[in-house]
Parts: sequence; structure tokens; C-alpha cells
Amino acid sequence: MDCIFCKIANNLIPTKKIYEDDKIVAFNDLEPQAPIHILIIPKVHIGSANEITDENKDIVSHIFCVASKIAMEKGLKDGYRIVNNCGVEGGQTVQHLHFHLLGGRSMKWPPG
Ligand code: AMP
Ligand code: ZN
Repeated sequence: MDCIFCKIANNLIPTKKIYEDDKIVAFNDLEPQAPIHILIIPKVHIGSANEITDENKDIVSHIFCVASKIAMEKGLKDGYRIVNNCGVEGGQTVQHLHFHLLGGRSMKWPPG
């Protein structure tokens, strides 16, 4: 298994989990881009948003449902951003589907 997020999901790399259930895991990003920067990933390997299908799509709504709960727990009642980078031009560097939950500062638009 050569995927770093699969390793985190399977506890092969020790990581402090912010949230975990049978389907997803959330943990702090190694290089935070905001005071709160959490990654939320499915435990099953999905390479990117491009690999979301009718068979696995329920994981995405589950991730968003949990993301809003984490955001409230982290005090982000005034707002936050959820980001998915897909593919080379989207800026994806880890090839395992993940959503960035960013908050604790004002976000700019458009992103760089
Ligand atoms: P992306 O560029 O959207 O693919 O995001 C990948 C993110 O994973 C980056 O923000 C990295 O800082 C983060 N990252 C990479 N390796 C780890 C790790 N071992 N633990 C936590 N975050 C990581
Ligand atoms: Zn993986």
C-alpha cells in the first residue's frame, strides 16, 4: 500500500484523529493554511473527485455532514471553507480523495 492517506486511515502512520467512524477519518493538515485546517478522507481508497461514482458517492455527503459538525465544534460559527483539489491543475498532491476544512480567518476569492 503506497498511499499515505490509506496508511493514516489504517493506523500505519500514527496520527491524532479529530474524528473517526467506520467510513471516514479527519485529522490536522501537516502544513496548515489557516488556524483550523483539517483533512477529511474516506477510509476506502478513492483516487480523486474524478473517481466518485454512483457506487461510492454516499461517502461525499457523509463527509460534508461530518465536516459541518467538526466546524461547529471548532467554533467556526461565522463560516469556513471546504476545498477539494482534483488533478494536476486543481493542485492535488495526494492521490486519495480528501476535503480540506479551513477556517479561523477570512477567506479570499478567487483562490490562487
Ligand atoms: P492536496 O494538495 O489537495 O492534495 O492536499 C494534500 C494535503 O495533505 C496538503 O495540504 C498536505 O499538507 C497534506 N498532507 C500531506 N501529508 C500529510 C500527512 N502525513 N499528514 C497530514 N497532512 C498531510
Ligand atoms: Zn489511499
